[in-house]
Amino acid sequence: VIYADHSASTPPHPEVIRTLTEVTQRIYANPSSIHEWGGQADQLVQRARAVIAEALRVKHSEVLFTSGATESNNLAVFGVVRAMQSQGKPVHVIVSKIEHASVYACYEQLEREGVEVTYLPVNASGLVEPEQLKLALKPHTALVSIMHVNNETGSIQPLKELGALIKAESRALFHVDGVQGLGKLPVELASWKVDLYSLSGHKIRAPKGVGLLIHRGQFPLKPLMYGGSQEKGLRPGTMNVPSIVALAKGVRLATEGQEAAYGQLRQLHDQLVDYLQTQPQLIINSPLEEAFGAPHIINISFVGMKPEVVVHAMEKRGVILSTQSACSSKLDKPSRVLTAMTKDNARAASGLRISLAPDMTLEQVELIAKALAETVNELKGLIR
Ligand code: PLP
Repeated sequence: VIYADHSASTPPHPEVIRTLTEVTQRIYANPSSIHEWGGQADQLVQRARAVIAEALRVKHSEVLFTSGATESNNLAVFGVVRAMQSQGKPVHVIVSKIEHASVYACYEQLEREGVEVTYLPVNASGLVEPEQLKLALKPHTALVSIMHVNNETGSIQPLKELGALIKAESRALFHVDGVQGLGKLPVELASWKVDLYSLSGHKIRAPKGVGLLIHRGQFPLKPLMYGGSQEKGLRPGTMNVPSIVALAKGVRLATEGQEAAYGQLRQLHDQLVDYLQTQPQLIINSPLEEAFGAPHIINISFVGMKPEVVVHAMEKRGVILSTQSACSSKLDKPSRVLTAMTKDNARAASGLRISLAPDMTLEQVELIAKALAETVNELKGLIR
């Protein structure tokens, strides 16, 4: 079987599994306890925080551990907005139309609550254009959320330009969902002028159910939950020490390996694109220019065909890929991301995502292409 759904989740790295197992077995005391064993657990958490701070070039105190990127994104969005609301200020917020559901749904909820929300369009490559952002910014804009790499298409946002614009034109905070970028592309939080940055363990070969939010600077956040004083009271609850230590290992491996991973992924990507371009039935939705498209995600449409049918036909041939993002794939609606990008319902309703890992081989890419060609041949008679 060839697994080509790495943007949905990745196989944990052997070193991550070793760390997770060892810490689970040996360090089980509560890191908030005042005895020595508690102190040892706390030291491991602090070391993990230091490793992550070094990898992302932020301060130790700016790393908050969470249960994953969904929580990090919720904490970023509601944390900022609730803090502003508690000061009685009018709040305007901006979100791109192609954010992951864990960001987008927060803004939809804010809108239902009466907050003024601007949804930013994207161009045909899935990119936010700086002029559009400039038009949307207002004196009372509190927060802008624009992701690094889109999880369905791989579109890479021009974060440096967008961050500079946000800071030049407003006092808004800049939130970036970095889940799909780390380990594949360079991450430059300072030069992007990012205030809040979310990551998830399981997209970088670390465990599921652990993630982080980088909270750069002094601005206030309201917590989502109330309880103990862990993570400065912003994330109460006993800390998941084994997963946090394993996450730090994953972040370190991902950042150290980023350049090599990029080269390997680019080669696999370009080869696969060459094969796909020989199939007239398939439209490539992902931007192919190196500056605009990440090397690990290729989104294609087999117009007229239900993507679930293609996914199952591919699975019969031993290739695992996906429809839209795993979180939305059971919704049976055209992809919101592809709709915003292509403005074409038929294309948006037939999107498929192939997501690669750097340790895949050119032979595997060839087998994916062959299985797709056979699947297209098998199914094209069904299109009306
Ligand atoms: N953001 C993006 C871009 C994602 O791809 C995902 C994964 O599904 C998430 C957020 C949510 O991450 P988690 O599964 O850790 O909640």
